Amino acid sequence: MSFRTLLLIALAVPVVLLGGAGLLGLTIPVPHWGRDYVLRFDLGEAAALLSLPPVSGPDDPQRPLVVIDAGHGGRDPGAIGTDPEGQRISEKDITLALALAVRDALLAQGGVRVALTRSDDRILPLAYRPEIARRLEADLFLSIHADSAGDRSEVSGASIYTLSNAASSEAASRFAARENDADRLNGVRIAGQSANVSAILVELSQQRTQEDALDFANLILREADDRLAFVPQPRRAAALAVLRAPDVPSVLFESGFVTNTRDRALLTTAEGRAQYANVLARAIRVYFARRRVPAGSGE
Ligand code: ZN
Repeated sequence: MSFRTLLLIALAVPVVLLGGAGLLGLTIPVPHWGRDYVLRFDLGEAAALLSLPPVSGPDDPQRPLVVIDAGHGGRDPGAIGTDPEGQRISEKDITLALALAVRDALLAQGGVRVALTRSDDRILPLAYRPEIARRLEADLFLSIHADSAGDRSEVSGASIYTLSNAASSEAASRFAARENDADRLNGVRIAGQSANVSAILVELSQQRTQEDALDFANLILREADDRLAFVPQPRRAAALAVLRAPDVPSVLFESGFVTNTRDRALLTTAEGRAQYANVLARAIRVYFARRRVPAGSGE
């Protein structure tokens, strides 16, 4: 296929998917609740052994589902800090306590379904974490971490990561390559389509997912306002494996530094954790509220 043909397809596919379908009164198969033209993919055998965590909240698959991922666990402690009494504090314990607090804050208000990638102190391979979100058909994925600044104990504050564009694009093409043998992408038949077309479909899906992730990251900042302290330039992009799900908007929240006295005090007390949990739960709620299907359209 010539480059010009490929370019034409690249230009035509969005028009057909987003504009043309609307004009013709057709609808693109919608995975579920508010996900519009984000495609979903059948899962490979690699994840077949993965055991899925329970989903808490309303027993209604129409309700939005957020998967909260407590970073590290088991023999991977993550960053280590030491409190004034010489007690070691592990990132894995901070992230788990924070994930549980966010879950409880969401469940207390109802309406949102929540699953945790881990709810105890266990090791969980990095690749499993987004895969759990995908297999549960989650609408949002939030990975929680805490940082270390080594000897620079004055460094403090939270930061928010989304997948970098280059990494996002690369993840999309890898995914497309893997999925090219599958005969359908979420009901959109791709058997007989060229590899280029399916690559473009995956790329489009990933772009939409990325936009949603950016929106969620900005909502965390907005909801935090003066309730949480951030590092300078807290919005960051990186090639993080845990953010690579092509069809679940994913954000990594670095809550603070275990090496900083003030951050540590917030992250290791129930009152401090509640501040984080309230901000994150609010951001999740606003994110879902913005995507709610209007009343009467079948929700
Ligand atoms: Zn971490």
